[in-house]
Amino acid sequence: MMDSPFIILEPGQDHPGNWYRRCLEYPEHAHLKEGEPHMAFLLRADPLIEFDRRILGTVHIPRVQGKLNKVFLWMVERMFDGLPDFLVILDGEYWTAADDRHREILMFHELSHCIHATDGDGEPRYDDETGRPIWKLTGHSVEEFTSVVRRYGAWNDELREFVGAADGKG
Ligand SMILES: [Zn+2]
Repeated sequence: MMDSPFIILEPGQDHPGNWYRRCLEYPEHAHLKEGEPHMAFLLRADPLIEFDRRILGTVHIPRVQGKLNKVFLWMVERMFDGLPDFLVILDGEYWTAADDRHREILMFHELSHCIHATDGDGEPRYDDETGRPIWKLTGHSVEEFTSVVRRYGAWNDELREFVGAADGKG
């Protein structure tokens, strides 16, 4: 079906950017709406499996280590018509089949990894030269197995907050 490992979607009704723009209207992502990071989106042709789980999306600050970084940045810049602050890679099969709400949930999730970097005092950091926000990635709020929660319950603050959030929506 797809020859290359990744696909750049043309603008159109399935383009992830549509869901990105929608998510910007949520207060959780106000820093993105305000800071206007350059976003790029790719669809992955083959599923990514990690520890037996299918990863529906990943988000990256596209940089590589070492001497190749300069070449990499040059290629990425040409590919996306500017250097993206964040590169979101979505499972192409999932994205294509997902309904509107599931696409939004996935996008909301990926954007939740994208935060404005702060200094030691918690103040947002800006680039000295450009004045633009310094962006950063953050991990998941909860890292735990269902089996652990089943056996031990919501045993830490992180989990209690998570359960509280779920209850609030219940
Ligand atoms: Zn995630």
